[in-house]
Amino acid sequence: MIEFRNITKTFNAVTVIEGLNLIVERGEFCVLIGPSGSGKSTILRMINRLIEHSAGEIRFAGEPIRSFAPEVLRRRIGYAIQSVGLFPHWTVEANIATVPRLLGWDAARIEARIAELMALLGLDAARFRTAYPHQLSGGQQQRVGVARALAADPDVLLMDEPFGALDPITRDSLQAEMRRIHAETGKTIVFVTHDMDEALRLASRVVILDKGRIVQSATPRELLHAPANDFVREFLGKDD
Ligand code: ATP
Ligand code: MG
Repeated sequence: MIEFRNITKTFNAVTVIEGLNLIVERGEFCVLIGPSGSGKSTILRMINRLIEHSAGEIRFAGEPIRSFAPEVLRRRIGYAIQSVGLFPHWTVEANIATVPRLLGWDAARIEARIAELMALLGLDAARFRTAYPHQLSGGQQQRVGVARALAADPDVLLMDEPFGALDPITRDSLQAEMRRIHAETGKTIVFVTHDMDEALRLASRVVILDKGRIVQSATPRELLHAPANDFVREFLGKDD
């Protein structure tokens, strides 16, 4: 579904991603994990072309990512992030409808989709549909963020530390929600976290990064049984 071929990214002559080769198969729940500054967000942003890679080739659905117009990528790739989150002056329903509106869906279709997504994410529509983000808890805002990312039924969902700021209980329930959504929709998900527990719980495959390079790419089981080196061992130990 997504393929990085020998990707390098430099910012002002500083190389932050180096020779990255990574294939994310359709339907995979791929979790990227690594220390701060290891390049996780940069990798996600190169997938939806918020930033451009410097060398190598990224392919999406078999075609070079550069051959897709931005609006096509916006429809086919949903993006949910931790902090920037929602448009504060828009209601929940307007936030969720962002991409469908850009795509020119008619009102009835948007209406139906909002109802469907709020149910999917466990958001009480009667209470929250016309509420503003500041009237919602952090966990409810995250649910709206995920609903917004899913709105136009993208092929791929990119999630950048979406649950980082949440308490453990809300986090657990959103993780369960993501597992259910993944099981039900079979979407390809690329999920960034720095929490190994979360990675092991969610991933069909965990990709461990350090300084812009892949240290190990393995299933949670393989990772636990055969960590590639001390860096991975330490990383596994740290959050347990
Ligand atoms: P965190 O866990 O803290 O979110 P990360 O793994 O997501 O970290 P990135 O945000 O991908 O890390 O950053 C990787 C490196 O690229 C860092 O050294 C960062 O300083 C650098 N970097 C990222 N964006 C830019 C930019 N727009 N201009 C210059 N350097 C950047
Ligand atoms: Mg980041």
